[in-house]
Amino acid sequence: MKNVVLLGSTGSIGTSTIKVAEDLPDQIRLVGMAAGNNIELLIEQGRKHQPAALSINDPAKAEALRQAFGPTTKIHAGPEGLLKLATMDGADVVLIAIVGTAGLQPALAAIRAGKDIAVASKEILVMAGEIVMREARQHGVKVLAVDSEHSAIFQCLDGKPAGSVRRLMLTASGGPFRSRTEWPKERFAEITVERALRHPSWVMGRKITIDSATLFNKGLEMIEARWLFDIGMDRVSVLVHPQSVVHSMVEFVDGSILAQLSTPDMCLPIQYALTYPERRASGRVQTDFARLGSLTFEEPDEERFPALALARQAGEAGGTLPAVLNAANEIAVDAFVNRQINFPAIPDLVRQTMMAHRRIENPTLEQILEADAWARREAANAARSVH
Ligand code: NDP
Repeated sequence: MKNVVLLGSTGSIGTSTIKVAEDLPDQIRLVGMAAGNNIELLIEQGRKHQPAALSINDPAKAEALRQAFGPTTKIHAGPEGLLKLATMDGADVVLIAIVGTAGLQPALAAIRAGKDIAVASKEILVMAGEIVMREARQHGVKVLAVDSEHSAIFQCLDGKPAGSVRRLMLTASGGPFRSRTEWPKERFAEITVERALRHPSWVMGRKITIDSATLFNKGLEMIEARWLFDIGMDRVSVLVHPQSVVHSMVEFVDGSILAQLSTPDMCLPIQYALTYPERRASGRVQTDFARLGSLTFEEPDEERFPALALARQAGEAGGTLPAVLNAANEIAVDAFVNRQINFPAIPDLVRQTMMAHRRIENPTLEQILEADAWARREAANAARSVH
């Protein structure tokens, strides 16, 4: 039995994690759950799973939670609540599925309390991958990948060292604007929020769906892979694979390639992270190759999608630059969703913020958080001046 704390229980990854826990009641127990604002769903989830502790971001809503649960359930609120849950007694794994950077401090707190962490929130590793992985090594805890691509690589590597790897191949669906004939660069300014939110193969939260349309999601994943698997950025490549069946591949030094495949369903990588190193029976994912017919691959179009080159640049430079890329992108996505800037302005804003940044080598956590805050201000100012 694994006791799991779920941060971000009301989101897309959170609700899939709850399905996995319901599939495996003898293996997974949810002992803590945290949400941002959706108190109705959190109450429903809490009533069903009876965790020992619940947390809600908005402190004003904590009282309603107390009334709904009574004294046996510990109720917390705000960033402090996330820290309480991340370090709670009896928890084995903390799954972090909060959008953005709010999961970083809880991730570090969980590691320092000796808990394994399962990371969906890639932003954490993009910002502070070196620190998170170093702390995990020092405390002897695992950092388990939830992202389907990284779970695939983890499964293919199966403990083999980075030295046996020629390159990692992250697959990308290509997003809704993959077709160069339908969506030439000249049409990118016409892309509406509604159109960008229609992803061809995955149903996900808003931020990651927009990131999939710009390919920033893949850019962030390149940096995430660099830290998770301790490999240079020059050995992390991206391959567009519209069917999203091959979740990623590892090419070894002898030329052999291993891939992990299944029809797309986040329940599979979530389950693997929570039951690792075991595999548990589940009927949820069935893959029928005859019905799929063909799997296709193509090079990403870096001219239409500058996010990949920007992420490579940030990942190679390291220091505070990846945190700046990540923060500027978050602000740019918000500005696009709020119809303040158009779609092609998203990478423009990120590039502009990166260029204005004075990078710090081997930063402390404080310096990373300062760079993050600086980049948010800088990108928000730049977004206001775009018409
Ligand atoms: P969603 O927007 O669907 O969900 C985000 C969750 O975080 C919600 O439960 C939200 O609560 C909660 N939340 C937000 N801010 C806080 C806070 N300050 N304190 C506590 N809870 C908070 O996002 P996704 O599930 O799509 O994505 C989550 C993370 O997982 C992202 O980093 C994403 O990149 C990554 N990921 C997602 C995948 C997917 O398929 N969706 C695949 C791989 C990675 P509420 O709704 O109650 O406000």
